[in-house]
Amino acid sequence: MLPKPRRRPVELVAARPLSPATRELTFAVTDGEPFDYVAGQWVDLEVDIPGFVAEPGKRAYSIASAPNPSARDRFEVAVTRVEGGPVSTALHSLQIGARMPTVGPSGLFTRERAPIDAPSVFVGTGTGLSPLRAMIQDELSVRPEGALMTLIFGCRTEQDILWREEMQDLAARYARFRYEITLSRPTPAWNSRRGYVQSHLHELVDPAQPVHVYICGLTRMVTEVRQVLKEELKLDRKQVHSERYD
Ligand SMILES: Cc1cc2nc3c(=O)[nH]c(=O)nc-3n(C[C@H](O)[C@H](O)[C@H](O)COP(=O)(O)OP(=O)(O)OC[C@H]3O[C@@H](n4cnc5c(N)ncnc54)[C@H](O)[C@@H]3O)c2cc1C
Repeated sequence: MLPKPRRRPVELVAARPLSPATRELTFAVTDGEPFDYVAGQWVDLEVDIPGFVAEPGKRAYSIASAPNPSARDRFEVAVTRVEGGPVSTALHSLQIGARMPTVGPSGLFTRERAPIDAPSVFVGTGTGLSPLRAMIQDELSVRPEGALMTLIFGCRTEQDILWREEMQDLAARYARFRYEITLSRPTPAWNSRRGYVQSHLHELVDPAQPVHVYICGLTRMVTEVRQVLKEELKLDRKQVHSERYD
């Protein structure tokens, strides 16, 4: 059962840059009750922006961290600064201690419906990695051994890679987790995968297995990945799960 969304007060308790355009924000719910959610869900943040016509600026952000039993009031998000975008710009300059309402958790983009022993492939670009990171952290903490989990993360350049050390560390610690990065605008020195995520699916998704694929990012990428999975790899739609940001 997924928890019902509720309006709750939150405070920004930590923040750090993840890349030149992306900021990680850690929020704590301040009403004294735990914030229960399932990995993959999202929250609406209601940011007070002076002069903004549709005040307050309300936007959805995927929860980027797995539920943490020792900090049940907390959750992380990662925000891409969109050129001219009022809410993402405001969240990039938000000061520690800032308070705002949030509504959540919401969303059905979770691993609840997939069999435990099915291999998983996670396909994310940019901050589309956020809910996938929460699912991967959650699954590895509960079942360190089990079916193969493959993450293919795409971004433009090396400096845009999000949570790289953390993902590399997980891949080194857990045999069941495979981590792949592809860059669409790499420097000549980059000696790994190149191009868009969709061009690597044939190699990383084995249609002979009962694989479940989780895709998150902007609509164009999600549509193209779904098309390859359906038309070329012949996956059933029940095996494909996605979340779109625009
Ligand atoms: C379910 C859901 C979860 C989301 N989770 C996240 C998240 O975890 N992190 C995040 O940064 N955004 C996320 N978004 C997008 C977010 O809600 C806002 O749309 C985004 O922050 C832009 O808001 P804005 O007010 O700055 O700009 P706006 O003026 O509202 O948006 C301008 C345009 O920016 C584009 N855009 C939206 N999101 C992105 C993005 N991430 N990268 C590049 N371009 C984008 C869209 O084309 C949009 O039309 C999510 C959206 C949905 C629906």
